[in-house]
Formats: sequence, structure tokens, C-alpha cells
Amino acid sequence: MKITVAGAGYVGLVTSAGLADIGHNVTCIDIEKDKIDMLQNGRSPIYEPGLESLIEKNLLNGQLQFTMNPEQAYSGADIIFIAVGTPEQQDGSVDLKYIHVVSHTIAHYINKDVIVCTKSTVPVGTNELIKQIIHSRKSSAIKAEVVSSPEFLREGSAVLDFFQGDRIVIGADDPDAASIMEQIYLPLKIPIMKTDIRSAEMIKYASNAFLAAKISFINEIANLCEKVGANIEEVAFGIGQDKRIGHDFLKAGIGYGGSCFPKDTKALVQLAGNAKHQFELLEAVIKVNNRQQTLPVIKAKEILGSLKNKKVAVLGLAFKPDTDDVREAASLKIIKELLEEGANVRAYDPIAIPNAKKVLGDSVEYAYNIHYALYEADIAMILTEWEQIKHVRLNMFQTYMKEPIVIDGRNCYSLEEIQKYPITYLSIGRPDVYRDKPKDELRIINL
Ligand code: NAD
Repeated sequence: MKITVAGAGYVGLVTSAGLADIGHNVTCIDIEKDKIDMLQNGRSPIYEPGLESLIEKNLLNGQLQFTMNPEQAYSGADIIFIAVGTPEQQDGSVDLKYIHVVSHTIAHYINKDVIVCTKSTVPVGTNELIKQIIHSRKSSAIKAEVVSSPEFLREGSAVLDFFQGDRIVIGADDPDAASIMEQIYLPLKIPIMKTDIRSAEMIKYASNAFLAAKISFINEIANLCEKVGANIEEVAFGIGQDKRIGHDFLKAGIGYGGSCFPKDTKALVQLAGNAKHQFELLEAVIKVNNRQQTLPVIKAKEILGSLKNKKVAVLGLAFKPDTDDVREAASLKIIKELLEEGANVRAYDPIAIPNAKKVLGDSVEYAYNIHYALYEADIAMILTEWEQIKHVRLNMFQTYMKEPIVIDGRNCYSLEEIQKYPITYLSIGRPDVYRDKPKDELRIINL
């Protein structure tokens, strides 16, 4: 089987390298020359643990090729995966321009029977649109089936998720096409669910909406904990022990970001609206998340008053650990707010600085180690729970900062540990710790 993957982003690259690794012959095509040049030299344009070595290995053994040439990629292909971006538009709806372009290109170059499988997250009904585009342009002698197989990988553990995912969803009208797709995935030994195309499309949005709801729910409980003097860590553990609830996605913090949850939740609200259904629950989830991201600046002002000319050390720029992705990262919104307040920001991240620079430019100073980020700072804000940040020696805050004041948006440290140091420490949903208070006297604000 000749497999082609359109798009060499997070999903396309992991899919390409993963499928090559389980024995398929894979060609991955992208329209960005820089990406393809890097990939042809065995280098990954994105940071994802294990990805570069997987690419290198399969390039060397000839299972994987990269190209910008559509004729080479699509003619003769048996299966074509679509993994192009589906960004959001101003009104929250999905911008399908990349899907349109790639569908037209595929239709132009296919020259034999083919299955086109959409991995991109697309609104319900989009696969029918892809089918129409392809059918309107291809020769009638060619049979082209369109299948939906949404992607569930998590950035930061995408390679692991490819090989050990919870399920693979195949949405197809044609049982033969579904069986062929099943065969492609078979070596992974991951449970496969076959369904109709519209349900497959909806499963992806419903999954992300549910996970986002879990995050906003625990964040609202955290906000309440702060007001009534409870500790969210205790509460989350207590409710997570119930098997019906589980412990995953019950970590309070400054909300979700990234390239998926924010856009997919908004897209589902839009999709519902188009179907004359107001998705009030999901609207609230989005509202809570937006509010959550304002907490670090609110808490900083509670302590320092004005932030004008204050030096703020930002620890963490990526939207979550183990990725260099800053799309919709809480850090970007928070830094924007800090700059509007007149603060001077020095930001540290182990790997996301180049991507953050593309958005923030010279508006902030970048620190390539934590010491330098903290040096002479009036306040530190932890925005991504990188291992490097979680395992920092706590006396560093005292040693390097003007005043050891820490706003921890990711609850990285235990309160017991923090109390051993003279640090003023405000986290999410837990009692505040003030450096000038004796160890056993935690001050609870807003009680
Ligand atoms: P991305 O922006 O990282 O990559 C998309 C790639 O497609 C880019 O490299 C772009 O140059 C390329 N591209 C655009 N038009 C093309 C064309 N005509 N031909 C070939 N390549 C083209 O996007 P991503 O994060 O990989 O996401 C892709 C899709 O998968 C989106 O729909 C997203 O919602 C979904 N998804 C993403 C994740 C994730 O964690 N990133 C997880 C699950 C699903």
C-alpha cells in the first residue's frame, strides 16, 4: 500500500512516522519548503518527544519520504490522510481553506482508486464536502472513498499516543473502505470503533468539549475553595477516587490552551448554533476558562498594587509541558496583560522561546535559564508546569529575586514544602502562604 499524508504538522508528522514504523510505505507532503528541507535531513521542525528519532529511523530504512511535489505524493496513492490545519476564524467557526485546497489538489492528482481519510478536526458534514470536491474533479473511472478518522493525540506525548492510544475511530459509509482502514491500523492493536462519518466527526468535538468541561469544572471548584478555605488538591483527590469521575483532568490551574481545546470548543458552540441549538454548558466552559487566565495578574496586583515598572519573571511559555507549541497558550494572554499594566517581563521556557518570539517579538526579554529569569524580579509567575520548573530548588526564589513572591498558576509545589522557605506564594484553589507569617499560620484570603 502506498500511503500519503498531507500536512507535516503535529498530527501529520506523528501519523507519517508512526505508520512508517509499523511497516507502511509513507510519503508526507507539505507546502512549507523550510519544513520539508529539515525533514528530508532527518530533523523535526517541531519538538515532540521521540519524534525526531522515529523520523530519522524511518527515513534511513526507506519507509518514509518527504516531498513538496503533489504529483509524487498523490498519484499512485492507495490511502491519503488529510492532516492539514483547521484554524478558527474571527467568529469562532472553523476556517476550512486548507481542507478545500488540499481536497482540490488531491482530486487533481489521483489516478487510481483511493481512500481519503480525514484526520484533521472538521465540523460535522465536512467529509461530505471533501467527497463532493473530489468527486466533482476526478475522472469517473476512479473510485474515491472518503473516511473520517479523527486524531486524539496529545502534544507532549503524541508518539506514545500513536502507539498506545485508547481507541481509533473510523467513520465510513462504505464497509470495504472501513475494513481497509482497519487493516492499516491493525498492527497497533488499539481498539477500533467503526461508525458512520457524521458520528466520527462529532466524537472528536464531543471528546475535546468534555475534557475542557472537566478542566473548567475543577477550576470553578478551585475558585470556590479559595473563597471558603478548602484546598483544591484535597478536593480533587477526594472526588477523583470515585471511579465514575477518575483523577485525570482534575488539576486546577490557569485553564486550558493549545491548538485544540480553545478552537474546538468554540467550533462546537458554532456548530450547535448553526443547528439552532444553544450549547449553554459549553459556553460557560469557555467563559470560565477565559476568566481563569486572568487570575495571575489579579493575584499579582493584590500583592503589589500597581505592576507598572515591576519586573515579572514568567516561568513557562508553552501551553503545556513537553511541547514547543505556544498556540493559544495562557502565557501569551497573561504576558499581554502584564505589558498593558506597564510591567517588564523576562520569560523562561526550556524549548518554546523561538515560537514565543514569533508572537511576542522584543516586547519581553527572554531568559535561557531559570536563575536569570528570576534575577532581581519583583514577582515570579509559573505558567507551565515543566519538570525543570517543578524541580527548581525553592531557595532560588529567595536567592535571586528582589522579593520572593510567587504566583503559581499550575500548583507545582506542595504547600508543606513552600512553608519551609520565606516565600510569599499564591497558587490556585489553595490557601495563600505569606512569607512574613509563621509556618503554621496560613492566611486565607476572601474568607
Ligand atoms: P499544524 O498547523 O501543526 O500542521 C498543519 C500542516 O499542514 C502545516 O505544516 C501546513 O503547512 C500543512 N498544510 C497546509 N495546507 C497544506 C496542503 N495543501 N498540502 C499539504 N500540507 C498542507 O496542525 P496540527 O496541529 O498538526 O493539526 C492538524 C489538524 O489535526 C487540525 O485539524 C487539528 O485540529 C487536528 N488535531 C491536532 C492535534 C494537536 O494536538 N496538534 C490533535 C488532534 C487533532
